[in-house]
Amino acid sequence: MKTVLLGPPGAGKGTQAEHIARKYEIPHISTGDMLRQATKNQTPVGLEAAGYIDKGELVPDDVIVRMVKERLGRPDCRKGFILDGFPRNLQQGKALAHTLDELGTDLDAVVYINVPEHDVIDRLSGRQTCRNCGEGYHVKYMPPKNKGVCDKCGGQLYQRTDDNAQTIKNRLEIYRQQTADLISYYDSINLLVEIAGDKTIDEVTKEIDARLRTDLRQP
Ligand code: ADP
Ligand code: ADP
Ligand code: ZN
Repeated sequence: MKTVLLGPPGAGKGTQAEHIARKYEIPHISTGDMLRQATKNQTPVGLEAAGYIDKGELVPDDVIVRMVKERLGRPDCRKGFILDGFPRNLQQGKALAHTLDELGTDLDAVVYINVPEHDVIDRLSGRQTCRNCGEGYHVKYMPPKNKGVCDKCGGQLYQRTDDNAQTIKNRLEIYRQQTADLISYYDSINLLVEIAGDKTIDEVTKEIDARLRTDLRQP
C-alpha cells in the first residue's frame, strides 16, 4: 500500500503512521525525522535544514525532493510505504507524482487527518519524543508509565525545540498557506480519504483502518 498522510502539524500523522506501517509491514517515511537525524549527524543536509526547522519554515523543495526520491528508490519501498510530512506544498506533490511515475508506480490513498487548530496547539505543546528510539508521547494524552522515560527503551524523553509557541504559530501559518492546497489537489484526483482527527488516538486508528479497507482504490 502506497500512502501519504496529510494534516496540520500535531494532527497525529506520526502516531498513526507508526500504526499503519506496522499493520501493513511497510516503511514509515517521515521527512521531519529524516531531517532531525541528519541534523544530529551534522550532515550537509542536516546543517542546512536546522535553521529552517528552528524557525518553523519549510526546508527548500530541492533538498527535500532529492532526499525523498533516494528513499523511495530503495527496495523496501517496493511493497509500499507511508509518507508522513511530505509533500508539504503543491510543488512537492507534483515532484512526488513524477518520482512515482519514474518508479512505475502510483499512490493508493492520501489520508487527511482533519483536526481543529486549538486541538493541534494542545497536542504540540505537550508532545514528547524519546531521544533514543523516537517513540512519541504526550504529557496528557499518551503519558509514559514513568515520567520522562520511554516505555519501550528506557530512553530519555524530550520536547522538540520547534514545539514552542512562536514556531508553532509559524508552522500553522505555513500549513494554511501552502500545505492545505494539497487537500483539494488530492481530492480532485480521487485519492483523498478524510478522517475526523478530533478523537482519541485509538478511535482515529480504527477509523483509518476501516476507511482504508473500504475506500482503497483497487489496482
Ligand atoms: P510536524 O509533524 O510537527 O509538522 P515535522 O517533523 O513533519 O513536524 O517537520 C518538522 C520541520 O521539518 C518542519 O517545520 C520543516 O522545517 C521541516 N520539514 C519536514 N518535512 C518537510 C517537507 N516536506 N518540506 C519542507 N520542510 C520540511
Ligand atoms: P504530527 O506527526 O502530525 O505532527 P504527532 O503524531 O507527533 O503529530 O502527534 C502530536 C502529539 O499529539 C503527540 O504528543 C501525540 O502523542 C499526540 N496525539 C496524537 N494523536 C492524538 C489524538 N488523537 N488525541 C490526543 N493526542 C494525540
Ligand atoms: Zn525509546
